[in-house]
Amino acid sequence: MTYTFEDLNTQALGGTWRDGNGSRRMENYNPYSGQLLGAAASASPDDLHAAYESADQVQKEWNELNPYKRRDMLLELAAVLEKRESEITELIIDELGGTRLKAGFEIGLVKDMIKEAATYPLRMNGQILPSPVDGKENRVYQMPVGVVGVISPFNFPFFLSMKSVVTAVGAGNGVVIKPHEDTPVTGGTMIVQLFEEAGFPKGLVNAVLLDIGEVGDLFVSHPLNKVISFTGSTAVGKKIGELAGRYLKKASLELGGNSALVVLDDADVDYAVSAAVFSRFTHQGQICMSANRILVHESIKETFLEKYKETVASLKVGDPREEDTIIGPLINKKQADTLMKIIEEGIEEGAVPLLKGEADGSLVSPTILTEVTPDMKAAREELFGPAVSVLTFRTDEEALAIANASDYGLSGAIHTEDIERGAELAKRMETGMIHINDGTINDEPIVAFGGEKMSGIGRLNGDESLDAFTTKKWISVQHT
Ligand code: NAP
Repeated sequence: MTYTFEDLNTQALGGTWRDGNGSRRMENYNPYSGQLLGAAASASPDDLHAAYESADQVQKEWNELNPYKRRDMLLELAAVLEKRESEITELIIDELGGTRLKAGFEIGLVKDMIKEAATYPLRMNGQILPSPVDGKENRVYQMPVGVVGVISPFNFPFFLSMKSVVTAVGAGNGVVIKPHEDTPVTGGTMIVQLFEEAGFPKGLVNAVLLDIGEVGDLFVSHPLNKVISFTGSTAVGKKIGELAGRYLKKASLELGGNSALVVLDDADVDYAVSAAVFSRFTHQGQICMSANRILVHESIKETFLEKYKETVASLKVGDPREEDTIIGPLINKKQADTLMKIIEEGIEEGAVPLLKGEADGSLVSPTILTEVTPDMKAAREELFGPAVSVLTFRTDEEALAIANASDYGLSGAIHTEDIERGAELAKRMETGMIHINDGTINDEPIVAFGGEKMSGIGRLNGDESLDAFTTKKWISVQHT
């Protein structure tokens, strides 16, 4: 196998690379050029079953290896990624329209995550606990759950699959990945190829390219998976959560967001502008933590907006292959149409466009909507594209009320020269993550990542992922 769309557009299951037995031809297009990158026959329920069987069987072999050996193999995985970096960069650019900058950012996150996962085999530990019963010894073992099912989205497919895959494997598990239909390679089969090249047992990590309509609930309900790690929209996450509950599966749900970046009256405006640009327009706004809403104090609104508009208008929109492009295409035209509709509705509701974007297929230039109020759709819904809503406030309490007036609670940011003022507000923000004097987009391998409210359940990274992908077993010994 090579790192090309031609080779990788196929099922990777049970240690084999083959066509699926489902009835759908799953086509994969470059969102910028519209070129067909490849097509795969979809996986049938039997194919999915074969993938879970394989992950289950091979996991036992994997988990019996000496932990030092497992650690070394994960470090080898990092080395293979270094070696393949330039090929993977091209695949990311072509499959999801990520810019060169974004591809580098994504690969960097994966490298850090692999290094974190490589510490897991030596961190799996247990406890010996006292007992009130004479002669009894309580041993508590931390063990892999067995098999983890990973469902990933299209926006950071390599990282958001790997975030769960590599940590689940580090904790001794086998994995079946279901990547997004638009990113089957970078979110799925390319990952299997990396594991194979690094010498992992074949069939430990599997990727199934499937149409949910063909397999129904089986990806979640399959008896061999013990944890479902889902990253995607809140609408789908709710369905996954319901299913997981019905089948008593542990589920980690990393869902949508509507982050607010708050600029207080004492903020360094230039610095806040650059954080606000990065937070909204990186990967053309298709990030769960993107700053959908910029909240600016009335007293600095004009200065802030003048500088913000100037910077945003200068961002190059176009071919993601070109080095200086900042805004590439959205994942598909449907996503672009949805965004344009929300913008138009916002304007009808009274928002004033300081900059008005236009759509050309999946390519959309930036929009800045001002005079937005919290009840407007543009403030309530996740925009997931290069458009931003600007709201104003007069007091810290008002800023807090606006920021919290969202069903979501993923990330946020506060800009102020007074760190303690920021920290006090941050404690009252209803989000899982909040950054003072920084952007809203942050992810570090050992820091708990996740959302509140409709942004999800559970946390990942560091100890949190180790906990998510392991279970505890109590073995008691009665010495007679
Ligand atoms: P999505 O539409 O929810 O899709 C995510 C994944 O779920 C895809 O692989 C999709 O497969 C699959 N899926 C859809 N319906 C399913 C079902 N009934 N059963 C099982 N799987 C199903 O999300 P997206 O459009 O790819 O991603 C954007 C969303 O993800 C945004 O809301 C964003 O905020 C969120 N997100 C959250 C985080 C986070 O860490 N909190 C990170 C990134 C993105 P198909 O392609 O086959 O439909």
